[in-house]
Amino acid sequence: MKLDATDLRYVTADEFRVLTAAEIGSKNHEVIPTPLIAQISGLRSGGVNKILGSLAKRNLVARVQNAKYDGYRLTYGGYDYLAMRALSKRDSLFSVGNQIGVGKESDIYVVADAEGNQMVLKLHRLGRISFRAIKSKRDYLGKRKSASWMYMSRLSAQKEWAFMKVLHEHGFPVPKPIDQARHCILMGLIDAYPLRQINEVPSPGKLYSILMDLIVRFARVGLIHGDYNEFNILIHRETGEPVVIDFPQMVSTSHENAEWYFNRDVECIRTFFRRRFRYESALYPKFKASLNNEDVEGFKLDVEVAASGFRSRDQKVLEEYMKSVQEDEESGHGNEEESEEGEESEDGESEDEEGGVVEDGGSGGVVDGGETKVLPPDDIEEP
Ligand code: ADP
Ligand code: MG
Repeated sequence: MKLDATDLRYVTADEFRVLTAAEIGSKNHEVIPTPLIAQISGLRSGGVNKILGSLAKRNLVARVQNAKYDGYRLTYGGYDYLAMRALSKRDSLFSVGNQIGVGKESDIYVVADAEGNQMVLKLHRLGRISFRAIKSKRDYLGKRKSASWMYMSRLSAQKEWAFMKVLHEHGFPVPKPIDQARHCILMGLIDAYPLRQINEVPSPGKLYSILMDLIVRFARVGLIHGDYNEFNILIHRETGEPVVIDFPQMVSTSHENAEWYFNRDVECIRTFFRRRFRYESALYPKFKASLNNEDVEGFKLDVEVAASGFRSRDQKVLEEYMKSVQEDEESGHGNEEESEEGEESEDGESEDEEGGVVEDGGSGGVVDGGETKVLPPDDIEEP
């Protein structure tokens, strides 16, 4: 997925209204009927058609010819644009540079603020691997089956943001959280290589014990990383110190499978050190013993995260999604790419779960019980 930074500057006010209308409409419609986009945007429908055409040319929306009706859907590109525009309106983001990572469920770019300070932009992309394949298990999405990739990607970013913030505040070696909007996170750029790329370290034993101590430190504050491996541990180029990244799958030590997650994190490090550095130690952390000191730290970060606004219901939804993707991969269906073409919704007409209030942090319009109120452009508040 290519990000076009020039697009950030060349979207007119009306185009922005239409794009925002498409986003609002996609809460309840997999394919948003053109008249609905016109209604939400408050613009004349002739004008809206033309604008949709030009947005489609730039891949910010995609035209979908459905069995029932024709319409549009917001693309990844359109959602990226809305998020980046929000970040740039708040002066967090000024320019977009090179892509430095493409994960299964994220794209990573080096970006900069107006002073040229470099940062990392992580765009969460859940649902890139087939939502269709896991459709049967989509009950947890409730009525939000439409736009599930947007919803899941946003939840994932919100979760990562909540964890990065509390971890950073409490002195854990993680990137500095800078800003968050929709499915995006802005964070400090770490001058580092992933451990995966490192063939030699001055003292494998020392690094091993720092990494194991971190697992224990996480556990003492009630957390398990959940994906603690050589890809998610960066080694600082100058200091050789590890920095931990990638938090969407963090779990609480009170999770029913906590011990299993904990052991898996420990095992990842042991296996990597054995293979890469031929280093093996009889010492490694055990779950129960790591919890013994629970009170030493005097606070529980899992509780703090829950209090920070990332609701346990959101946590549950995300966890269900991740579980079904994993089961899907294990059964060998996980790798088919979801096409950029719209997937037809079985119940595209469903009411939004939250009673219709757009809770993406204010895209401007409020959809209320079927009646659509549209705020004038100046009142459009960015999340
Ligand atoms: P994913 O969820 O796709 O695994 P990650 O958060 O692990 O995404 O990031 C993917 C890659 O991007 C990392 O392995 C690392 O190389 C790079 N990266 C991510 N965040 C940073 C950062 N803050 N500083 C430097 N590199 C980063
Ligand atoms: Mg990762």
